[in-house]
Amino acid sequence: MIVAMQEKATEEQIDAVINALVECGVEVHRTTGEMQTILAAVGKTSSLDLAQFEIMAGVMHVHRISSPYKLAGRSFRPEGTVIEFRNGVTVGGKQVVAMGGPCSVESREQIFETARRVKGAGGTFLRGGAFKPRSSPYSFQGMGIAGLEMMREAAEAHGLLVVSEVMEIAQIEPMLPHVDLFQVGARNMQNFNLLRELGQVRKPILLKRGIAATVEELLLSSEYILAGGNYEVILCERGIRTYETSTRNTMDISAIPVVKKLSHLPIVGDPSHGTGRRDMVAPLARAAVAAGADGIIVEVHPNADKAASDAAQTLYPEQFDQLMSELRLIATAVGRTF
Ligand code: PEP
Ligand code: MN
Repeated sequence: MIVAMQEKATEEQIDAVINALVECGVEVHRTTGEMQTILAAVGKTSSLDLAQFEIMAGVMHVHRISSPYKLAGRSFRPEGTVIEFRNGVTVGGKQVVAMGGPCSVESREQIFETARRVKGAGGTFLRGGAFKPRSSPYSFQGMGIAGLEMMREAAEAHGLLVVSEVMEIAQIEPMLPHVDLFQVGARNMQNFNLLRELGQVRKPILLKRGIAATVEELLLSSEYILAGGNYEVILCERGIRTYETSTRNTMDISAIPVVKKLSHLPIVGDPSHGTGRRDMVAPLARAAVAAGADGIIVEVHPNADKAASDAAQTLYPEQFDQLMSELRLIATAVGRTF
């Protein structure tokens, strides 16, 4: 950690900062320049609160040099994490994966038909919400466990893995037999109790970036799961809220290479929630793969316009087919397989 003192900082103010740092158990290296004094704090600085030093008299600014997350940081596993699923599918390696399915599981016919089309197009995961975090309490809230049972059957029938959202701790246990990958939604990215509990689970977690979360906050949230001993975390860029109103959210493509640089965890892109518009899902999915994403997660429904949730951003199966063939080319161009 670096503390840059103001040009006019007095010796008393500099000493006060040095003493405060030493009291926190870190070693301080002082550089006295012609204009300014710089203090470098070395040791266990990750738990220090920067603001505590920023408000001290004579301080200009304080920066962290080492990352506040340890297990999620790239240096923990420089070669990158590859997660292997029970059928041999891997996420985070050379292969780029596609997860497709409806926003919500609605009926047996719907989920079976979707599974058939997702598999036919080359998808490896069937997505579908059974517990839905809806902005309005009057909107469709999902089919619950009955929906998950149907989804598991449909996925098994077509050789797909299942990814579905868990909204609270009490749902983990009943969901365990039905899912291969637990999704933590954007609204729960900082539900730290849920994250801690998922750290105890021995199944992979898809952690979506919060609507207003920075990449650092996303990585700190993943740290909660890793710290519990579950190292199988896949991150997801699903768009963030900005001042732009042309799309539902702003799909932050740059977060993909940023995460790749900072962390060893795989990351997938969700252009459905990222844009909120069916006509923009494919361009952003292509961009995500080109930018180095390990996969995409996309909403697909046989009767997309009539979907019970997120209809406007849901692809028709034919559109998903077309997208898959484009992604195959892009994956190859960036040295991946699809
Ligand atoms: C979803 O995947 O349908 C969903 C609700 O996603 P998010 O948490 O990103 O809004
Ligand atoms: Mn949705």
